[in-house]
Amino acid sequence: MARCLIGCGANAGEPREQLERALELLRFMPGINLLAVSRPRQTVAVGGPAGQPPFLNGACLIDTELGPHELLDLLAAVENTLHRDRSVRWGPRTIDLDLLLYGDLVIDEPEQAESAHGRRRAALTVPHPRMATRRFVLEPCAEIAPEAVHPLSGCTVRELLDNISSPHLHVAVVGVPGSGAAEVAAAIADATMARLVRHPLPLPTGADPGPWQEALAAWAHALETPPPVVDEAVAVPVETVADCWLGMLLLAAETALPAAALADFRRRFTRFAPTTTAPHVAVVAVATAEALAERLAFQARAGGHSDVFRDAGIALETRDPGATATALVTLQERLLDRLQPRDQGCDDPLAPLRPPAVVVVRADDLGRAVDEGIAAVEAVT
Ligand code: ATP
Ligand code: CA
Ligand code: CA
Repeated sequence: MARCLIGCGANAGEPREQLERALELLRFMPGINLLAVSRPRQTVAVGGPAGQPPFLNGACLIDTELGPHELLDLLAAVENTLHRDRSVRWGPRTIDLDLLLYGDLVIDEPEQAESAHGRRRAALTVPHPRMATRRFVLEPCAEIAPEAVHPLSGCTVRELLDNISSPHLHVAVVGVPGSGAAEVAAAIADATMARLVRHPLPLPTGADPGPWQEALAAWAHALETPPPVVDEAVAVPVETVADCWLGMLLLAAETALPAAALADFRRRFTRFAPTTTAPHVAVVAVATAEALAERLAFQARAGGHSDVFRDAGIALETRDPGATATALVTLQERLLDRLQPRDQGCDDPLAPLRPPAVVVVRADDLGRAVDEGIAAVEAVT
């Protein structure tokens, strides 16, 4: 038996009737015990085509004997009964049922062929990958299950809602050099009218000690400089968007520094880190090895003058963009692991810097990454 939270939304047809109908279908479904239903609330559409009608959003809490994939299939069946149109991403819909939490399970599975009969199994990610920044999801959830725990952040639903309700909300956009994190950050700052803090220094990525010595000296300097003072007078929902996350410095150092230099760096880092504030939201720009290699090669050809790939920094100095891209993919995997560790180790120096809300955007296509990043951050308001 698993306790699950389901998010419901509708903004086409007759939203109120469709929400009620969906809940009725769930109530009488074998294997499901409907425990609580939030009141519906009207919200402004976030992401997708412009000019969409407002949403009616809610959430429900269930106990179920169904497995996570069975439950997802059932939610899709209920959506189909209510004539859900899936032709436009984030387009208007008669009903949307998202599996937000399935007990404390953490699942991230792409679509796959399930059996010899060629039946496809739908992609499934729980916790729902975008729930932690969505006010329209967290508010109804907090009404019916404030103590439900989001297993990746270790936060309760109530804490996730409080997190995105912080005054002076600080968003960090993070990614390896070439991921486009800087462009995504600039676009989010622009869209939300937030202050943009630019990454002060390039991250070294190669094993060549030359650039490392130099960069480490620069980092050490940065680590001893106090963080920027936040202007208390500004009242905007999102105050600061940084195109870096401090933890990335330590990750890059761990990936490439020799032991002695790393020990020295760690000492400085551990002293400095507690003087900074952890961001509330991290938007992680993740690109494939191919996309990263392509961007590095492009930057090498452009002689480093391209503004778009400015963040590739020192990576430019390595002669083999393919090998560099492979190293960057490893670094990217470590970044994701450390931002959302499945078992929360307590002696990790990054633990105090971890943001409660983490959203991954696919950065192979920068335009899409920008849209996803903006939608993720706009959903907090
Ligand atoms: P969002 O996921 O950002 O809320 P959406 O609800 O509009 O967007 P859909 O078109 O309804 O997205 O679903 C796209 C795919 O997401 C589905 O094919 C489904 O297999 C997959 N999916 C993965 N994880 C989940 C989940 N936890 N809940 C619902 N669908 C999921
Ligand atoms: Ca949804
Ligand atoms: Ca959905």
